[in-house]
Amino acid sequence: MREYLKFYLDGRWVDPVEPKTSEVINPATEAVSGRISMGSAADVDKAVRAARKAFASWSKTSRKQRLEVMQAIKAEYEKRQADIGAAITEEMGAPAALGNGFHVFLGAGHLDTAIEVLKEFKFEEQRGATLIVKEPIGVCALITPWNWPLNQIAVKVFPALATGCTMILKPPQLAPYSAQIFTEVLHAAGVPAGVFNLIQGSGSVVGTALSGHPDVDLVSFTGSELAGVEIAKNAATTVKRVCQELGGKSAFIVLDDADLAKSVAGATSSLMMNSGQTCSAGSRLLVPKSRMKEAIEAARKASSEVTVGDPKGSFAMGPVVSKSQYNEIQRYIQSGVDEGATLVAGGPGRPEGLTKGYYVKPTVFANVSNTMTVAREEIFGPVLCIIGYDDVDHAIEIANDSPFGLAGYVNGTDLEQCRAVARRLRTGWISMNGGFDFNAPFGGYKKSGNGREWGEFGFDEYVEVKAMLGYAPQT
Ligand code: NAD
Repeated sequence: MREYLKFYLDGRWVDPVEPKTSEVINPATEAVSGRISMGSAADVDKAVRAARKAFASWSKTSRKQRLEVMQAIKAEYEKRQADIGAAITEEMGAPAALGNGFHVFLGAGHLDTAIEVLKEFKFEEQRGATLIVKEPIGVCALITPWNWPLNQIAVKVFPALATGCTMILKPPQLAPYSAQIFTEVLHAAGVPAGVFNLIQGSGSVVGTALSGHPDVDLVSFTGSELAGVEIAKNAATTVKRVCQELGGKSAFIVLDDADLAKSVAGATSSLMMNSGQTCSAGSRLLVPKSRMKEAIEAARKASSEVTVGDPKGSFAMGPVVSKSQYNEIQRYIQSGVDEGATLVAGGPGRPEGLTKGYYVKPTVFANVSNTMTVAREEIFGPVLCIIGYDDVDHAIEIANDSPFGLAGYVNGTDLEQCRAVARRLRTGWISMNGGFDFNAPFGGYKKSGNGREWGEFGFDEYVEVKAMLGYAPQT
């Protein structure tokens, strides 16, 4: 049993103002795995005061001083990788190989990237007689989701630290453990008191107190559209910056000249990774209509190879995060059946042999119409929808016919054609033939939000831009 009952405020582990706890459920066993304290508005006030006090000195530190702190974090992070991986497996059910692998790797990747960006980032630039200065925005509230818990923390905390901001992190109630260990890493690395603060608790209490707080300058939020809208409304009266990283329903376009079997297999296994709980997942797989049969066979084969079971074992897929998430996914699977999609693999209920835990069958629907519920709404589970298209224009039309605009995938042999398709997609992040880059900006169009994280673009979220006209003598 884990017990994380203290918050991290002003460089120390302290008791909450009012004692209140909540149990954390292990999604693989449905048993209680630990307890956390639930914060209040009074805890938020204390944290904001600490962050504001620390901002006076941290915002004045040099690039070199901040680089030293970040290098120290890197050294401590490396020591705690196994602990972080185990925490992720326990809190949200990622298989051990994924928790210790990609989840931990992403955190390290963002840290390395932030260090490299910080070495070169242009905090000052003279244009003509004007000096343009990028200054830390101030006290930041960082509100994160449970699905890639460490990644979401890393993409916010590292650029905020690097630019000279101070912050309060509110991790998700469903997956709070990795954030605790992350905080221990920062403490061991000697991050100065008040620069980073941690409060656990609910979105409705801690999140609301943060987003409406008059002394918070920025809220960086990753999560659902519903919460994103509530945060933006609540933040509006204090005119703070709100960065929203929201959901998606991204298209994976397999062009006619692609190796169809390989592309479909790749799309299927990446969708199933993390039990389909990835905001940028290519959950709508677009294939030429004339090759639907081939695609069905490839997807059937690939999904049958996705083993499901105890995340501490060597299965490819663990459970989904919670009972309510499980129920929601079951409703979506049933709607796919009811609305007439062809069930190729999986379907309602738990995988055979699993009677406990929030396990979902790797599910594939084919002959899906883009108007069906399963094609329009973010399911956030291991459910792939295969949609047929007539020609490239039709594929692009389907891909863009979505309220979301987070990611896109294009597979094809002719790179020129892939590029042309990618240019026409109304989304913020597009991977051609598996391209991946920690320095590329990540964020969405439309209902997928307004922020851009990762690399140098992530730094820009945390700075104010000051123009000093007449800085140089006018000529
Ligand atoms: P969620 O919106 O329920 O919760 C996210 C965080 O916001 C949690 O910490 C929660 O406690 C807090 N919160 C909830 N309501 C709040 C409120 N009214 N005020 C302040 N804080 C509040 O989302 P979730 O279920 O944890 O995460 C899944 C969602 O996140 C999916 O929609 C997914 O697509 C999205 N997501 C987006 C990205 C991205 O980068 N675009 C990345 C990962 C996840």
